[in-house]
Amino acid sequence: IELMAAAISMIFIVVSVISIPLGILWNVSLIQVLGFSAFIMLYSFIILHIAKRETLSNSIKLHAVGILLVCILTATYFVYYDKIEVLFGFIILVLVMIANTSSKDVIFYYLLFFSVALMIFSFVYKINDTIVMDTTYYAALFIMLLFSIITSHLFKRVYRTITKAKLTERIEILSKNEEITSLYEEILASEEELKEQNEILNSYNKEINANKERLEFLAYNDPLTLLPNRKKIIESIDMMIDANIGHKSPFAVVFIDLDNFKRVNDTLGHAAGDQLLIQVTHRLKSSLNPKDILGRLGGDELALIVRRNMEGEILLMYVQEICDLFSEPFELEGVASKITASFGIAVYPTDADNVDDLLKAADTAMYKAKEIGKDTVQFYDIEMKKTILQRIGLENDLIQAIINNEFYLEYQPLVCGKSNKVIEFEALIRWKTKEGKLISPAEFIPFAEENGFIIRIGEWVLHTVCEKLKQLEREGISNIKIAVNISTIHLEQDYFIDSLKQILEATQINPASLEIEITESILIQNKQKAIDKLREIRELGITISMDDFGTGYSSLSYLLELPIDKLKIDRSFIMAIEVGSVKNEIIKSIIDMVHTLNMEVVAEGIETAVQREYLEDRSCDLLQGFLLSRPLSEEKMMNLLKQGRLF
Ligand code: C2E
Ligand code: MG
Ligand code: MG
Repeated sequence: IELMAAAISMIFIVVSVISIPLGILWNVSLIQVLGFSAFIMLYSFIILHIAKRETLSNSIKLHAVGILLVCILTATYFVYYDKIEVLFGFIILVLVMIANTSSKDVIFYYLLFFSVALMIFSFVYKINDTIVMDTTYYAALFIMLLFSIITSHLFKRVYRTITKAKLTERIEILSKNEEITSLYEEILASEEELKEQNEILNSYNKEINANKERLEFLAYNDPLTLLPNRKKIIESIDMMIDANIGHKSPFAVVFIDLDNFKRVNDTLGHAAGDQLLIQVTHRLKSSLNPKDILGRLGGDELALIVRRNMEGEILLMYVQEICDLFSEPFELEGVASKITASFGIAVYPTDADNVDDLLKAADTAMYKAKEIGKDTVQFYDIEMKKTILQRIGLENDLIQAIINNEFYLEYQPLVCGKSNKVIEFEALIRWKTKEGKLISPAEFIPFAEENGFIIRIGEWVLHTVCEKLKQLEREGISNIKIAVNISTIHLEQDYFIDSLKQILEATQINPASLEIEITESILIQNKQKAIDKLREIRELGITISMDDFGTGYSSLSYLLELPIDKLKIDRSFIMAIEVGSVKNEIIKSIIDMVHTLNMEVVAEGIETAVQREYLEDRSCDLLQGFLLSRPLSEEKMMNLLKQGRLF
C-alpha cells in the first residue's frame, strides 16, 4: 500500500506540475490551475501519510486512498471539463480496467464507479451544454462522490456474495491443500518411521555382524579362557610348518596339563575348576614372550607354541620359569590352594615334522612329566613312547587286578619312641600282576585316583584290614592298631561314612584299633566340610592321622584346626636330619607345637641311627622307617605279634 500510495502521489505531483503549462496553453485561469495543483499535491501527501500510518488497518487505508482518488479525479474533471469531456471518464475506465489485475479490489471499485458516474455526469451536462459553478455543480459533485462510494460498497457486497461460492471452493481447495499437507506430513512421518526402521535394521545388522564376529571368534577361541582353541593351535602350527618347509627352522610345542585337576572339579565343582583355568591363563599370559601363542586344547590341557629358535637348555629354562609360576598358590573358593602343572616339550623338526606327530610328542612328554612326579618339565624322546604304551596297558591291568585279586597288603610297624615297642602297623597296598611283576603304589595310586578306581581299592583295603583286626581279636591280640591310607577322593564320597559304619558293623571290631591316614589335599575342599566329616569319623571311635605332613603347602596352624589325633612328618623332613643342622630345629618346633595341642607325632622314613636318636631325644611319639622295619608280609606280621617279639 505504501508503494502504491507513493506511486500515485508521484503521478499526481507530476500531473499537477504538468497541468500548469497545460492550463496556460488551454487558457484556463491561472488561479484555478494553481489551486488544482496545490489541491492534488496536498492530497497526494495526505495519501502518503495515511498509507504510512501503521496503526490503521489495510482496508481503511485502501478506502482512504480510494476516496481521495475519487476526489482528485472529480476536481481534475471539473477543472478541465471543457477539454476532456466524456472522454476523461472513458480513459479512466479503460485505464482502471487495464490496471484491474494489479490494483487492489477496493481502489478498483472506487475508480470504476467514479468513471461510470463521471461518464453519466458529463453526458447529462453535454446535453445541457452548460457547466456553471453553482450549488447544482457542487450537489452534482457530492452526488457523484456519494454514488461512487455507495455503489462501490454495494458492489463489493454483491461481489462478495458472488465470490463467496468461489471462496468456499477456494476454501475447499485450501482444505484439500491442508489435507494434502497433512498427507504430506504423514508421508514425512512415515518417512521418519521408515528412517527409524532403517536405523533399527541397521542396528540389527550391526548385531548380526557382531554375532558373526563372535561366532567366528568362538570357532577359533575357547569361550572360557578366550585363548585360541585346539583348531586354532593346530592351524597355527600347520602354518608355521608350511612357512618353514625347506628352512626347517626349529620351534617348540609345549603341552601343559594341570595336576589333579579332576580332583578340583570333583570336590569343588566345575565353577571352581573354571575359575582355576582362568587364573592359570592370566598368570601364564602375563609372563609369556609376546611372540609365543598360548592356547587351550580342552579340559585342563593348554598348549604353548614357542615361535622362536631356542637352544634346548634355554628352552628348558624358559618353560621351567613358566612351571615355577605355579609355586604361588591359587585362590579357590577363598582358600589358597597349591596347584601344579606338568609340562611336555616337543621340538620341530627334531621330534616330529608334522602337526599330528608334534602334538603327540608333546603329549607323550607331558605324560612322562606326570609319571615322574608331576610339577615338572620333560622333553620328548623315543623312550618315552614305550613308557606311555605301558601306561595304557596299566589302565587295563588295573581293572583286571581288582577282578583277579592281584592286590595284597604289607604292614609296616610303627614303634613307640619311649618304650621302643611296636604298637601299630601301617597297611600298605601291593600289586603283583599275573606275570609276577610288582608295581609300586607310588606308580598306580595316582593313576587310580585320576580315574576313580581308588574308591574300590580303598574299600578293599578297609575290608581286608578290618577282617585282619577281627582275626587278631579272636586270637587274643587286641592292643594293636592298624592304619589305613585313605585317598581324599575316596574320603570325599558322600557314602564314605556309611560304608565305614557298615564295615565296622559287619566285622564287629573295636573301632579304636583302626586308624585312618588322610592327606592335606582334603583341604582343597571346603574346610568346614572336611572338619565335619573328620569329626563324624572320630565319633565312631576311629583314630585320624595326617600323613605326609609338610608336602602340601598348608600352614601348620591351618592344618591343626582339623580334628586329628596324629601328625606324620613326611620322610623328606626326616631325611634332612643331620648332626648339628639348623634344619633340625624345624622338626623340633613341629613336635613341640603338635604336643601342645595334645596330638601325637609320627616320624616317617627313618633310615639312620642319627635320625632315630634325634627324634627320640625330641620326644617324637612314634617312629617308622626302614631302619626299624621294612613293610612286612601279613604272615611275618602275624608271627611277630604271636611271638610277642615287639622289639
Ligand atoms: P605313605 O602312606 O607315606 O607310606 C609310606 C611309604 O614310605 C611306603 O611306601 C613305605 O614303604 C615307605 N617307607 C617307609 N619307611 C621308609 C624308609 O625308611 N625309607 C623309604 N625310602 N621309604 C620308606 P609305599 O608302600 O611304596 O607307599 C607309597 C605311598 O602309596 C604311600 O605313602 C601312600 O601314600 C600310598 N599308598 C600305599 N598303600 C596305600 C593304600 O592302601 N591306599 C592308598 N590310598 N594309598 C596307599
Ligand atoms: Mg601313609
Ligand atoms: Mg607318608
